[in-house]
Amino acid sequence: MVMKPKHDQKFLRQAISTIPLRLRLGRDLRRLLKRGHPWVFAEALRQCPTAAPGTPVILLDHRKGEEIGRGFYDSQSALAVRMCTVEASETINDTWAEKRFTRALSLRQTLFFSQNGTGQTTGFRLFNGEGDGLPGLVVDVYGDTAVLQLDGDGANGFWHSLGIAEWVAQKLSLKCVYERPRTRGDLGRALVGIKPTAPIAFLENRIHFTAEVVQGQKTGFFLDQRENRQQIRQVAAGKRVLNLFGYTGGFSVYAGLGGASHVTTVDLAKPAIETAKHHWQLNGLPANQHQTIVGDAFEFLEQANKRHTQWELVIIDPPSFASAKKAVPQALTAYQKLVAAGASATTPAGLLAMASCSSHVTLNDFLEVCTEGISTAKRRATVLVINGQPPDHPTPLALPEFRYLKFVLMRVE
Ligand code: SAH
Repeated sequence: MVMKPKHDQKFLRQAISTIPLRLRLGRDLRRLLKRGHPWVFAEALRQCPTAAPGTPVILLDHRKGEEIGRGFYDSQSALAVRMCTVEASETINDTWAEKRFTRALSLRQTLFFSQNGTGQTTGFRLFNGEGDGLPGLVVDVYGDTAVLQLDGDGANGFWHSLGIAEWVAQKLSLKCVYERPRTRGDLGRALVGIKPTAPIAFLENRIHFTAEVVQGQKTGFFLDQRENRQQIRQVAAGKRVLNLFGYTGGFSVYAGLGGASHVTTVDLAKPAIETAKHHWQLNGLPANQHQTIVGDAFEFLEQANKRHTQWELVIIDPPSFASAKKAVPQALTAYQKLVAAGASATTPAGLLAMASCSSHVTLNDFLEVCTEGISTAKRRATVLVINGQPPDHPTPLALPEFRYLKFVLMRVE
């Protein structure tokens, strides 16, 4: 019997000799896939044989069985095939993977390591899954540490996280690469270096923050709001600011540095609020200009509205209310309620910033909800900014589902 080496590829789990599964489409998705939409749902396949998650796949068209491209498979998931390439000439191996890694790194070098930018922002997303042509693979960098996250069993069976971590650590001279599993309760492991015992320090636009990479939300910080926080810094001067769902105070610190006269940060999570206080001090802001509240944002707004308390700038960045499509109607109702209550808590001609990170809620839906909410509050509004994710969170043009973040800054009359 010939023993095959377990990993003859550094970045992929499958041995180079693994024969890909040939799966045929049940309907005509050729155009969509060739345009760069990288997802095939189980219902679009002619058959879904059981196979190990992450098994490499050659996808064939529904009519003549011609090859469309290559990807990997998860027979247990509704998202059955994630495409790696639709170029006929491309083979999926280490060389392919490294080409994609290098392309992703090069974009971040342009964004953050340029002559002017060097050292100002050391917290960024290095690999954004499908947006970097790396399905299901996310790597966030915080200073000397990176956090790797694989999305789902397919990605876990396909990518070899240890080899990837070593590549990233070497290219960026990192001390540690930590893997955060998506399953709750599992705290993960260090792939390179040792498990961090304290939050990791990094800079965002020269502002000091820390990321709780082991236990914090997401990979430790909400890097995707970087540009929207800048926007808030630009308009905060002299204003009394309310930051709801504030987490570790990202928006609050930017508002403070932008010259806000006072900032109130509200979040349900006590550890996050403790860190928000710390971040405020870390940036030399006066403690008496920051009030922190551990509590429910809906209740806080209700109380504020009862007392007719208002702020000149209100920021509302709630968690995703719709993690599945069927939760969308409920989510829209919750957003609308927040917009209405938020508008009532905004002074005349004050500013209201509203965000949604739910991929199932479209920008149009969200603007509609804002319109309804403002109207419920018997106010009118002018849109100053509509924004989404920053360029270190790239998305395939053909995959609108990947553009999950919406940020709307309004002046409320
Ligand atoms: N704006 C933040 C990210 C917010 S994430 C930033 O830029 O970093 C959403 C936050 O909402 C989490 O910190 C979570 O603890 C908090 N949260 C969830 N439900 C809440 C509620 N009902 N009231 C207040 N905070 C809540």
